[in-house]
Amino acid sequence: MTTLPILVLNSGSSSIKFSLYEASDGARNRIVEGAVDGIGTDLGKFWIKDAVGEKQVDQTPVLPNRSVAFKLVTDALNSGEVPAPAAIGHRMVSGGPTVLENQRITPQLIDEMESYSAFAPLHTPIAIYIMREALRMFPSIPNFVCLDTYFHRTMPEVVKHMPIPEEYSAMGVRRYGAHGVSYESIVYQLQPNVPDKLIVAHLGNGASISAIRNGQCLDTSMGLTPTGGIISGTRTGDIDPGVLIFILRRIAKATPDADEAADKLETVVSKRSGLLGVSGLSNDMRDLREAIKAGNAKARLAVDKFCWTIARWIGSYVAELNGLDMLVFTGGIGENDIDSRAEICAGLGTLGIFVDQARNSVRGPAVISTENSPVTVRVLSPLEDLMIVNHVVRLMSE
Ligand code: AMP
Repeated sequence: MTTLPILVLNSGSSSIKFSLYEASDGARNRIVEGAVDGIGTDLGKFWIKDAVGEKQVDQTPVLPNRSVAFKLVTDALNSGEVPAPAAIGHRMVSGGPTVLENQRITPQLIDEMESYSAFAPLHTPIAIYIMREALRMFPSIPNFVCLDTYFHRTMPEVVKHMPIPEEYSAMGVRRYGAHGVSYESIVYQLQPNVPDKLIVAHLGNGASISAIRNGQCLDTSMGLTPTGGIISGTRTGDIDPGVLIFILRRIAKATPDADEAADKLETVVSKRSGLLGVSGLSNDMRDLREAIKAGNAKARLAVDKFCWTIARWIGSYVAELNGLDMLVFTGGIGENDIDSRAEICAGLGTLGIFVDQARNSVRGPAVISTENSPVTVRVLSPLEDLMIVNHVVRLMSE
């Protein structure tokens, strides 16, 4: 196989990340990575790092909208300083109930996925925009979609099905999960010794947790949308549905238009809740840890709620897996917040989970369980872009 430059585009609700890999037989070398962040805010950031992680660009541009943001990315890619891509892999949170396989993107496929925007309302519109732009700007090369829902396709019906009337189930309302590309990358990194009974906690600004049996997803915390599951930076996670009805009725008093009221409710549960909502301070774990040191009780409650929820979820997954061999922490908090890992695991000794204080004092990949812990506890980085490159290489050779 010759060397193929493969571009990965990974958009969040207000960011576009990109990386360019050179892929050849068995080798994947990242030659550049970068991001535009803070789209639609006054806090725009644009950075590019080279193959050895040196910052080549570090700017604070005004980013009024996604088209200005994406132009920065395409201008950098067209500058002649990096090879032109031979293919593009796009990360997509959800393609709805009909697009579940990673595959080549066509205009019809984009329309199909767009019709299910409600399944990832903060992520799908920007991802769809970027796919259309990429097809327009790079018409001669193949584009592929890599779905987060792909990893979770193995969940049994009893896990996927939601206890709602059949008419809504028939519309595709069920558990799909998210962060699938991250989970896939953890299983990939554990090969060839993937434990039979594995729990992975992806704890970033968005947070979720999955039970994985023999390398395949058995259960995951996020539901139809990334708002479900465990509490995260700005999202409620699972919540008594009566709370939503209560808030919606309050909103509807001032906002009679149903769509507008639903949008406002979405803002409450997706952007104003979670760690931010409980602390009233920040969705960023670093800020909360600082505030806790300064004696802020609400920050303490927010972080306690976060750790407690995750510990509960781990307990239920141990029951579901009928035991546990390994627990992996990943994502920005999972990789870096030593205290969260310690606090989550503190009460889990009866499940065979024992974290070693000294081993847990480092950031980044490590084994952090004690020598005799029945369950191995590890920290790994999510290698999402690498997984997307692997999918693109596979799909190109089919
Ligand atoms: P992600 O969405 O995976 O980028 O993760 C973002 C989250 O990771 C935020 O809550 C950050 O506060 C948290 N995080 C990143 N670095 C650190 C760190 N050094 N210590 C504690 N939390 C961190």
